[in-house]
Amino acid sequence: MSATTQPANRNATILGRIRLTGILRAITGLRIGGAAGGLAIGALDNPVVRDPLTNQPYVPGSSLKGKLRSLSERIEGLTTNWRINNVYIHVCTGDRQNGRNPTYDQCPVCPVFGVPGDQYPSAPTRLLVRDAFLTESSVRELEALRLDLPYSEIKWEAAIDRVTSAAVPRQVERVPAGAVFACEMVYTLYEPRDVNRFWTVVRALALLEDDYLGSYGSRGSGKVRFEDLTLTVRPRPHYDQPVAQLPQRTFDSVDALLAARDDVLAWLREAAGLARQAG
Ligand SMILES: [Zn+2]
Repeated sequence: MSATTQPANRNATILGRIRLTGILRAITGLRIGGAAGGLAIGALDNPVVRDPLTNQPYVPGSSLKGKLRSLSERIEGLTTNWRINNVYIHVCTGDRQNGRNPTYDQCPVCPVFGVPGDQYPSAPTRLLVRDAFLTESSVRELEALRLDLPYSEIKWEAAIDRVTSAAVPRQVERVPAGAVFACEMVYTLYEPRDVNRFWTVVRALALLEDDYLGSYGSRGSGKVRFEDLTLTVRPRPHYDQPVAQLPQRTFDSVDALLAARDDVLAWLREAAGLARQAG
């Protein structure tokens, strides 16, 4: 590994944090793959992941983050060169011979979503995505419905045998359309230019709204929308000296946030106390 592929900030001092909260609404039924037979019910394939304490379905932060990363890699056309189990992801190696593979510092994806620890021992991941649980009102709504299973529905699909034309039915479990999950993401600023890198996250949310979460997206499942977004900034000094009201802005939708890009980035820089440093 040459020196130019090393991350610049090896001390990883936290300069501040941006918290993004909002709701994630299932516009169509949501299938989230989980460990079949583990948290799952019976012999259904691709089960919704359930919280073992409440039996309620939730969206694991890892699946949300993985989807946001994958979409970000694809819009940048980055080489997927790193194998994790059976999945290939993009990790910066600085190897330009093998398709588009920028250095870590130039990469729009790796500093935000992270790299394997043994590749860059001190390259901190900026974005963390928490597990998203059903909101209380959504729990009540789903309980009021007469669903096939607790908080979820059974959808029958049929695979058509191309030779005999026989329909082979299969069951899939979905969180019904209309379910609402509470989302939280925390983005850490380690250097002034991390403010601009935050936009990778916002753009990924827009990409996801036009894509799908979970599985069987091409067959209708997994359309989601983010609503009631709140950005909260906590500059480093406010961890030692808490203030009554941290700087905060709200947006109805991802599109509203996207449309205010330059304005929001300038505000984030100012609120984080990084306005006078090079970005
Ligand atoms: Zn990269």
